[in-house]
Amino acid sequence: MSEALRIGMDIGGSKTAAVALDLSGAVVASTQLLTERGPDGVLDTAEHAIRELARLTARSAREFASVGIGIPGQIDRELGVVRNAYNIDVARLALAELLSESTGLTVTLDNDVTAAAIGAAHLMGLSGTVAYLNLGTGLSAGFVVDGAPLRGSHGVAGEIGHLAVDRLERPCPCGQRGCLETVASGSALKTYWPAGGDHPGRILLSAIAAGDAEARTAFEYLVRGAANCVRLLVLALDPHTVVIGGGLRLLGDPLLDGIRTTLDEWSAASPFLTELQLGERVQVLPEDSSAAAVGAALAGIS
Ligand SMILES: [Zn+2]
Repeated sequence: MSEALRIGMDIGGSKTAAVALDLSGAVVASTQLLTERGPDGVLDTAEHAIRELARLTARSAREFASVGIGIPGQIDRELGVVRNAYNIDVARLALAELLSESTGLTVTLDNDVTAAAIGAAHLMGLSGTVAYLNLGTGLSAGFVVDGAPLRGSHGVAGEIGHLAVDRLERPCPCGQRGCLETVASGSALKTYWPAGGDHPGRILLSAIAAGDAEARTAFEYLVRGAANCVRLLVLALDPHTVVIGGGLRLLGDPLLDGIRTTLDEWSAASPFLTELQLGERVQVLPEDSSAAAVGAALAGIS
């Protein structure tokens, strides 16, 4: 009999990453496909990913031990239902039940950022309390405490992007104004630097290197916002490590250096902050890791 493998999936707004993990938690197969939107499309995408992993691991799809799915939106883990996942055009979908019916496998759901926190802690070998800061189009965080995800009583733990902080009071998709998400996220970067187009993070560093002053200022605003998020997470949870992930992690070492320098500047003026050793807690997720898919597999029941 072949070894039991767990499937993990990260269903995102444009792409879906899927992995198969062995019992030790190592990735033995991975694939990526475009996400089809809407309830039927998301279900099709998940089924397609399972068939592809079955092909890659030379087994029948029914032989997998479990399927864990990380997906944006509000998750009811008990019912296996995702709600309000607007970037994949899903208002409500009983994804766990439907996918389980069509594949015969045990399926569990998790919020994508919580899944990424679990995956990052595993892939980076982090113990203790880990806060994962997702700097994507939006802004949110996920938590792992001594190896266990912290989801909160209503699955809202980590939605720090909607703390209103900015006196410029830019409108936020949540209906409030001046949210942290409007100062530290991919969408914030777009407003700081409209010339950067739809994916400003991809060209920001090269524009700065070419002497673009507006790009430099946008980067500085973004760094300050991200440093503020790190400070918030440390004050709220006192984690051993804050991992920076999400699309803007591609800014890599310049982002990490900028955040640490900013935290050091704030700490120089505050004995209280100095004690917290903020900069030493921050790391950036390695760029090629499928943290959310791996974390979803680990959180799946098997
Ligand atoms: Zn908001």
